[in-house]
Amino acid sequence: MTAPIRLAVIGMGKIAHDQHLPAIAATSNFELVATVSRHGESVNGLPFFHDIAALAASDVDVDAVSLCTPPQVRRQIAETAIAQGWHVFLEKPPGATLAEVVALRDAAAAKNISLFASWHSRYADGVEPARNWLEGREIAHVAITWREDVRVWHPGQDWIWEPGGFGVFDPGINALSIATRILPRPFFVEKADLDIPSNRAAPIAARLSFRDSTGLPIEMDLDFRQEGEQSWDIVVTTDAGTLTLAKGGGQLSIAGGDAPDDADDLKGEYPGLYRRFAAIIRAGVSDVDLAPLRLVADAFLTGRINQVEPFIE
Ligand code: NAP
Repeated sequence: MTAPIRLAVIGMGKIAHDQHLPAIAATSNFELVATVSRHGESVNGLPFFHDIAALAASDVDVDAVSLCTPPQVRRQIAETAIAQGWHVFLEKPPGATLAEVVALRDAAAAKNISLFASWHSRYADGVEPARNWLEGREIAHVAITWREDVRVWHPGQDWIWEPGGFGVFDPGINALSIATRILPRPFFVEKADLDIPSNRAAPIAARLSFRDSTGLPIEMDLDFRQEGEQSWDIVVTTDAGTLTLAKGGGQLSIAGGDAPDDADDLKGEYPGLYRRFAAIIRAGVSDVDLAPLRLVADAFLTGRINQVEPFIE
């Protein structure tokens, strides 16, 4: 039997507690050996440190780390981890800039360790079946609608509104991680409108038009002000009917067929991510797909900025 990979989790916020700890507890591939956060306390009596330097200086043996901090502070922590020779799991988005993630990828390769730029939405139940069904179909149109209530899903997360926090693209990049996986060809930003509240540094809403090399139009509507019913939907119109991937990739229906009504259709995401992380570590490779981050960067490069009313949480 292969020994479990000794893992520390860094940045003990919402996603670390909601998804990482349960997924790690449920797999024999990893053993949680420590947690790191500026605030908080030990998990299950395990060693707890306030920063990665203290973990590195300790006598805890670590093989890998999962970085669950906001993107703006991830590069420095990842650099330290790579210098230690630890494999690194980056929460999405893998960084605040493209250049820093490329530098991390190169640093990981030079150290022969595995870097994993995780995209959790790609592991939702409907995504691979959708990709398989779309292969070879003639696609006429794609509509992406990602509208959620930021007060419900991101309470108190001030970092999301700061430069490098991405605003509504924090969830929007999940939609792009799915679209870049299921659509047959790369696509490009043609037009972007970004609405930024006058008291914030990141968009609260955005409307984007993309096209691929064959001219396929892909429309995307992102909004953080959605109250009531929430939408995380991708609708693909094809020559064989309409494919709808709803609930963030968790629910697939094809050509009018009923979607299975699964109450927790995203439950496979983090177990899937940790299976993949273990597999790349054991294979001695990295997995760093920058396609979703490139599209967000291009939206910020080319988008028209509209100042909108202040956002008060
Ligand atoms: P969060 O609840 O704010 O947690 C992030 C944690 O990172 C904080 O609790 C904080 O803990 C630590 N941290 C370190 N440096 C920080 C800084 N300068 N500013 C703020 N916090 C800092 O955020 P989250 O929702 O877990 O998201 C973290 C990452 O996971 C993001 O990249 C997000 O896109 C991704 N993600 C989130 C979700 C979700 O549903 N929430 C889902 C998938 C992925 P200390 O103060 O103790 O250091």
